[in-house]
Amino acid sequence: VGEFDLIKHYFVQGANSIGPINREPITLGIGDDCALLAPLIDEQWAVSTDMFIEGRHFFAGTAAYDIGYKALAVNLSDLAAMGAKPIAFTLALALPDNNPLFLQEFSRGLFALASQHNCHLIGGDTTRGPLNICITVFGSIANDQALRRDRAQVGDDVWVSGSLGAAAWAVREQTARLASLEALSSTLQNGLLEAAQNKLLRPTPRVALGLALRGVAHSALDLSDGLSGDLAHIAQSSMVAIEINCACLPISPEIAHLLPDQQLQLACVGGDDYELAFTAPRSARATIEKLSQSLDTSLSRIGNVVSQNKNNGAVRFLDAARKPLAAEIVAQWHSFQHFS
Ligand code: ADP
Ligand code: MG
Repeated sequence: VGEFDLIKHYFVQGANSIGPINREPITLGIGDDCALLAPLIDEQWAVSTDMFIEGRHFFAGTAAYDIGYKALAVNLSDLAAMGAKPIAFTLALALPDNNPLFLQEFSRGLFALASQHNCHLIGGDTTRGPLNICITVFGSIANDQALRRDRAQVGDDVWVSGSLGAAAWAVREQTARLASLEALSSTLQNGLLEAAQNKLLRPTPRVALGLALRGVAHSALDLSDGLSGDLAHIAQSSMVAIEINCACLPISPEIAHLLPDQQLQLACVGGDDYELAFTAPRSARATIEKLSQSLDTSLSRIGNVVSQNKNNGAVRFLDAARKPLAAEIVAQWHSFQHFS
């Protein structure tokens, strides 16, 4: 099949499988030189791009379904973090060959998630090359409702959705196995590892949560690189300091069998969780707890936004006695951050 047949077969049909595009604000989808979008007057558009490269963002040999799913999931997670409603996406795809089985499964994973969020494929580009997927998502948000990183306020609580550490554990185990090091986990833990791998490959973008947090949270972001580094973005752009109570961190059940400091390390600097971290005033506590129930998503209050003048921009981790963890411990976490 040529390029045009391939697009038509796997992507136009796929796009149509979530219904004809007669949805505002999409005026024209795939097929012309450009797609046409007509945003409403009183809204802003949130736009984000993420590349997804074999060997860099996912292991060679990852199932095609999971590649399609996750390439879109990480982009939807950015919309969620901004409080934006998904509308559409474009797909730039480099493929080493025209493997029909790969394309079939890839588009199945992609559209499974796209249809869940009513997010339409409106265009893209297809070329031969090392496997590389680049998606750009478009979302809408009422004027001035976006959840930005630079709006945290002193006195805010810090919250995180879901649980942390499982995906990073799956990466660590798989990296160790590929390096033919001794597996770090025993076969007894294979069930846990499988569950952790599911979280790594099929993260749930917290779109409904992001939408519900508009007007409630002061600031938000999604956790792709790890809690510590990601919260530092909020601290720096809001010019505040953040204190995290380690005892309040929602550690993923899949890693509960590890030593406590390994659990803490994976939860604080391991990435790939795609949960939302956000700050909100104390007055929003009851609202957030209700949200947790109505969305059936656990939300944990893990720390506080504080002002520390010269320490602004910093994230500090406190132990159960509210004493800062020793600098060496935190430095050591970071030195093991890149497991490869
Ligand atoms: P052009 O050469 O004008 O850029 P292309 O031949 O690359 O157009 O693409 C033809 C149409 O197919 C365009 O509307 C483009 O957006 C769409 N398209 C190409 N590749 C993809 C893809 N991987 N997914 C979705 N749409 C695609
Ligand atoms: Mg083109």
